[in-house]
Amino acid sequence: HHHIDHATHEKVHAAILAGDTHAHIPQYQTYADYVAEGGYAQLAQLRESGDWETVQETVLAAGLRGLGGAGFPSGKKWGFVRANAGPRYLAVNGDEGEPGTFKDRYYLERTPHLMLEGMLIAAWAVEAATCYIYMRDEYPAVLETLRREIKTLEAAGVVAPGYIELRRGAGAYICGEESAMIESIEGKRGIPRHRPPFVAQVGLFGQPTLVHNVETLHWIARICREGTHILNATSKNGRVGLRSYSVSGRVAAPGVYLLPAGSTITDIIAAAGGMADGHAFKAYQPGGPSSGLLPASMADIPLDFDTLQPHGTFIGSAAVVVLSDQDSARDAALNMLRFFEDESCGQCTPCRAGCAKAVKLMQADHWDQDLLTELCTTMADASICGLGQAAPNPIKLVMRHFPSEI
Ligand code: SF4
Repeated sequence: HHHIDHATHEKVHAAILAGDTHAHIPQYQTYADYVAEGGYAQLAQLRESGDWETVQETVLAAGLRGLGGAGFPSGKKWGFVRANAGPRYLAVNGDEGEPGTFKDRYYLERTPHLMLEGMLIAAWAVEAATCYIYMRDEYPAVLETLRREIKTLEAAGVVAPGYIELRRGAGAYICGEESAMIESIEGKRGIPRHRPPFVAQVGLFGQPTLVHNVETLHWIARICREGTHILNATSKNGRVGLRSYSVSGRVAAPGVYLLPAGSTITDIIAAAGGMADGHAFKAYQPGGPSSGLLPASMADIPLDFDTLQPHGTFIGSAAVVVLSDQDSARDAALNMLRFFEDESCGQCTPCRAGCAKAVKLMQADHWDQDLLTELCTTMADASICGLGQAAPNPIKLVMRHFPSEI
C-alpha cells in the first residue's frame, strides 16, 4: 500500500524534523482556483432552482456508471434512495483498497473539489441530511487535503459546519464493500451485511443511504458543468465513454490513464509507454485480483463493463496489472489468494475456510484441479459477499489459460 519512493520519503522525513508536517501535501487545485473556473456555480444554481430528475437524466444520458467497480448506472441509485423516507444519508467510498487501484487517489490529489462538488450535487439530489466521506488511512495527504478543504467550504458558507463528516478507514480491504463500509462508519467491525435490504433502503444508522465512489462523484461534477458529451462523445470498439485505468506492473510508465472505455490491453500498454525494458508481455490482470489473469493471446478484448463476463472475469475498478515473461501466472494467482485469505472478514465458512484451503492446494507442486474446481464452485455459490464469490477467479483462469504452469 505504500507508493512513496525513497527520495520522497527522505524529503518528507526531513520536513517533519524541520517542523513542517504538511510538506507531503501535493499541489492541488484550491477552492479559489476551482471557483474561478466556474466551480460550485452548478451546485448553487441547482440548490436555488434545480430539478433533481433533470440532473438524474443528464447523469444517465452521459452513461455514467459506478466506478468503484460495480458499474451500476449512477443516476438510477438516486431514485432508489429517494423512494425511501428520510432522513437519508450519503456515503463516499474512498477506501480504494483493491490492489493495483490508485485512480481515486490520483484525482483527489489534484482536483479534490470536483469530488466534493459532485458529492454535494448528489447529496442535494437525494436530500441527504449528512455526507460521510470514508477515506482510507493509507492516504494521509488526501486526508489532510480533505480536512482543509471541508473547513474552507464551511468558512465559505457552501456547507453548514458538520454537514460533511470525514471518517478514516483502518486498512481492512473488506471495508471497501459498501455494507461493510457502513458498519465501519457506524463504529462497528466492518463486515458485509446480507442483502436485501439494500443500503439504498436500509443503510447508515438504518436509514436510506446513497453510496458513490470517489471517481463517480468527480464525473458527476464535470458532467453537470460541462455536459454529457465529455463522456458520451467518445466511442471505441463499440463501447461509449472513458475509463480511468490504473496501470502497473511491467510497463515503462505506470500510472493512471484516462482512455476510451473500449480500450484493449494493447492500447493500455501503449499508453503506459510500452513494456518495461527487457520484458515481453505475457498476461494481465484486467480489474483487480478478483478479476484473475488473462493471457497475452486475449489482447483484443475491450476492457469495459460487460465485455469481460463471457471470459469469466470483469473490469471492476479498472486496476490493470501487466505481467511479463519473467513472471509466473501461477505465483500471481497464489499471491491473489493469499491476499483474499488475509482480507476475508471470516464471517462465512465458504470464504474463510475456502481461501485458506485454496492457498494450501495452490502451494502443491501439482494442483489438484478437480478438488480446486469443486472448492471454487462452493466459494462462488455460497459466499455472502463479492470477496468470497470472486476469489476463485484467479484459480479458474490460471487452470484454463496457463495449464503448463500448474
Ligand atoms: Fe466475509 Fe468472505 Fe463472507 Fe465476504 S465472503 S462476508 S469477506 S467471509
